[in-house]
Amino acid sequence: MIFYLIQNFRSSDFRNWCLALLDLFPHVRHKHLLAGWGWGWGWGWGWGCAGGWVVMATVTPPPTAIVARSGDEALQGHPCGGVPLDGNPWCRSADCYEKIEQIGEGTFGQVFKARDRETGRVVALKKVLMVKEREGFPITAIREIKLLKALRHPNIVNLIEVVMSQASEGNKWRGSVYMVFEYVDHDLKGLQTRLSEAGRKFRPEHVKCLMLQLLEAVNHMHRHNVLHRDIKGSNLLLSDAGDLKVADFGLSRFFLGKNQALTPNVITLWYRPPELLLGMDEYGTAADMWSLGCIFGELLYGREILAARRVDDMEQLELIYALCGTPNEDNWPGVTKLKHWNTFRPAVQKPVAIRERFRSDPNFTPAAINLLENLLQLDPSKRLTAKDALIHDYFYRELPAACLSRDLPKYEASHEWTTKKRRQAARAAAGVPTQEPPAAHDQAGAAAKRPRADM
Ligand code: ADP
Ligand code: MG
Repeated sequence: MIFYLIQNFRSSDFRNWCLALLDLFPHVRHKHLLAGWGWGWGWGWGWGCAGGWVVMATVTPPPTAIVARSGDEALQGHPCGGVPLDGNPWCRSADCYEKIEQIGEGTFGQVFKARDRETGRVVALKKVLMVKEREGFPITAIREIKLLKALRHPNIVNLIEVVMSQASEGNKWRGSVYMVFEYVDHDLKGLQTRLSEAGRKFRPEHVKCLMLQLLEAVNHMHRHNVLHRDIKGSNLLLSDAGDLKVADFGLSRFFLGKNQALTPNVITLWYRPPELLLGMDEYGTAADMWSLGCIFGELLYGREILAARRVDDMEQLELIYALCGTPNEDNWPGVTKLKHWNTFRPAVQKPVAIRERFRSDPNFTPAAINLLENLLQLDPSKRLTAKDALIHDYFYRELPAACLSRDLPKYEASHEWTTKKRRQAARAAAGVPTQEPPAAHDQAGAAAKRPRADM
């Protein structure tokens, strides 16, 4: 059996790249990948591999899609002209799906609602954006696929398969790669916008139900040494059956524990913890827990609780200092040694003001405030873990109890992108300029999402 992965790459980290890529194809025993150049192939070179040949080749001009071939007999007779998938690792053709409408557009690519032509199943297709095509298939997408395959959980969005449109002369050898996900009707950002437009917000039993599901997912990730690094409303999906699903693993990564330098340029600004803003690069699961605290506050409050108006780390830190108090060596030992401490040190000392700020809102009960204060701890080592948050009094000692997920209210399908488009259309109809300034959190997300070698 011959399997070609044709790719033009210039990465110095070639071996890691091969291993990450091979991981996507379970039948290939990459453990047996031979070190060193194994086999010449025309203008490229290859690696010998037990159970078949794996050829990684450089080609000119570079086709940007992955071209997979498993022998002519495997290609024959499939209704979509692609290759069968079940129990078989080869990619099917994107033609197997019929696009219905666009439902999202992020920094990473477009997302479409689509239907499987054969089974009628509705799915979400996320196009892999080739930002720097000459560098080949993006490492961030490889990481996202790899992590999603490793993290099967009812509260994590299910990756069904990866499909591709064939590179051909017609599309200038630029086939596209799509990740195929189960389709989920809402994201929390779109849903919350709809609710607030109607002057409503989630009730306490709904917030508890959503938070428990979110904590289950994050606890599962952290137990498997995965940091999500972009938890925010538009990346949390909610099905009509009331199941919350964490999505968008484009910035996620495995981490090994302490003393591992990671880039602090992650997590959308409004959800970014103070240790990252202050330049800490040996952070861990507590960074996700801060974002979770921001989501919790947002669900209770009905809108974002730490929303800087500009893309400005200083303004974001000022908001944090005003709500969570100012850091010093007493409440956060070591904070004055952080890289950006001198730039962003607080001018005046302030106390924690969470209780004060939300005093008049009945959603902020004593247990809710206690949980929020523990999630929004400035010192990451004091922040609550997902495991501990799951057994917090807020969920089990204070009424009302969490509702069942199937009892969450039902809404019309709402995603952040479609909600934004609808608002723009309404403004255009009313004669107001349609161009909305890009949201601060989008810009911050975009900056963070550019693939970086040191992620
Ligand atoms: P990006 O990296 O571009 O932010 P996401 O994975 O977050 O990509 O997808 C962008 C948007 O597309 C999401 O905010 C959500 O509204 C929508 N979306 C993503 N995955 C799904 C899905 N499985 N079902 C329904 N909508 C989805
Ligand atoms: Mg996203």
